[in-house]
Amino acid sequence: MNDATFAHYPLFADLRGERCLVVGGGTVAARKAEALLAAGAAVTVVAPALGPALAARATAREIVHRPTGFAPSQLEGVLLVVAATDDAATNHAVARSARARAKLVNVVDDPDVSTCINPALVRRGPLTIAIGTGGASPVLARLVRARLEALLPQALGRLATLAARFRARVKCRFEALDARRRFWEKQLDDQSPVLRALEAGDEAAAERLLEAALAARRDTAPRGFVSLVGAGPGDPELLTLRALRTLQRADVVLYDRLVPAAILALARRDADFEDVGKVQGLKGSEQTAINARLVELARRGRHVVRLKGGDPFVFGRGGEELLALRAAGIDYEVVPGITAAVACAAAAGIPLTHRGLAQQVTFVTAHGEDAHADLDWPALARGRHTLAFYMGVGRVAQIRDGLLAHGRDPGTPAAIVERGTTPQQRVWLTTLEALPATVAARAVQAPAMILVGEVAALAAEPGGSGAVQPEAATPALERVA
Ligand code: SAH
Repeated sequence: MNDATFAHYPLFADLRGERCLVVGGGTVAARKAEALLAAGAAVTVVAPALGPALAARATAREIVHRPTGFAPSQLEGVLLVVAATDDAATNHAVARSARARAKLVNVVDDPDVSTCINPALVRRGPLTIAIGTGGASPVLARLVRARLEALLPQALGRLATLAARFRARVKCRFEALDARRRFWEKQLDDQSPVLRALEAGDEAAAERLLEAALAARRDTAPRGFVSLVGAGPGDPELLTLRALRTLQRADVVLYDRLVPAAILALARRDADFEDVGKVQGLKGSEQTAINARLVELARRGRHVVRLKGGDPFVFGRGGEELLALRAAGIDYEVVPGITAAVACAAAAGIPLTHRGLAQQVTFVTAHGEDAHADLDWPALARGRHTLAFYMGVGRVAQIRDGLLAHGRDPGTPAAIVERGTTPQQRVWLTTLEALPATVAARAVQAPAMILVGEVAALAAEPGGSGAVQPEAATPALERVA
């Protein structure tokens, strides 16, 4: 139980009418008894003497008081035990007896001998958010609680209460679970007029709005919808808020393999997930199949999220999907994402258009059979020009040869960022000349970004204060050649 990595099993318990035992009669015991009473429990307090708060409850017959010491027989018929005396030995004895009888037991300030603990709470009416760290850091739990307190409007409690009142009627009106969920999502959303009315303190208006929404009944044939969403370079922190919200509303998520599990985990729990992508370069037929699948799912009325690495429109075939949706008359939206070039430059500390070093930056795809022939090498080879090569790992020789043949300086700095922004990120700094040798020697794997240009020389360790010495190779940034 002292393992810092363990996590409690989270549980909301319905204690109405359940017998609970509090051992101890002081202020801490009183606080525990109050919380149990608030949950509707039948509370018995065992203590030779009671403090004023508990004494008042006993007089009012809101608790049962046993003016004795603790005895194991008192656990009969009890669901939950709280040991709240100021004597550790007594508390431990209570815990031992309780555990021997398979009762849930909470020992105040002693999670090690407890089988359950009280989480930090954020409450808005019936809406309850419980925060725990498995004992790893109660301070962290409190800080998170403070943040949530600041974030969540008080009106959420009134919203929850109002929702409870309408629940049965909405269920009657919208028989299909999907339709019901959509109705509620719209009404409970943080932009919903109902919530705004409640925030303004106008409960009557909120209720009228909900009545009107219920009467409108437009949801019988839901219109499908596709969101083309950029998932960013890999770090979930680099998702946009809109991408996050869209993911949390998805019925189906079609994702590329470049999208990490940590981001998929942010999607709505009961969404369906379809893995449709390769790490790099889909064949035309596969792309056609994805386009068709998007249209098919949307026609069935589902909210489809097409989740793509980086930005959907930067070498992501998002354009083809967009055209297919337009042609089929499907409603869609595009949620931009942070593209790999921008993210990798940031992660490696390379300012893409540093004054004096670069006047332009070009995103280039090195992929495709004819990439070498197709690219405008004379333009790319000009100095003071940063080049961000996508899908370039297998084509570094062509990149170097093309640029050198058109006059780019062989000593031009080049950075390679592998799996940028993820925990596996690796960065190398080399030269244009030595680029292929570096990629081979370091066994660079896709996905990797190749940044060529004078600005690449500014690469530094993430969070580092300065450039790294060539010989001081680190996993974060290694200077080669
Ligand atoms: N739409 C994506 C790019 C898709 S093409 C975007 O906007 O970022 C796939 C290429 O992107 C990969 O071959 C690699 O060059 C680059 N890439 C994507 N994620 C990356 C990452 N985390 N680190 C380095 N390169 C990445």
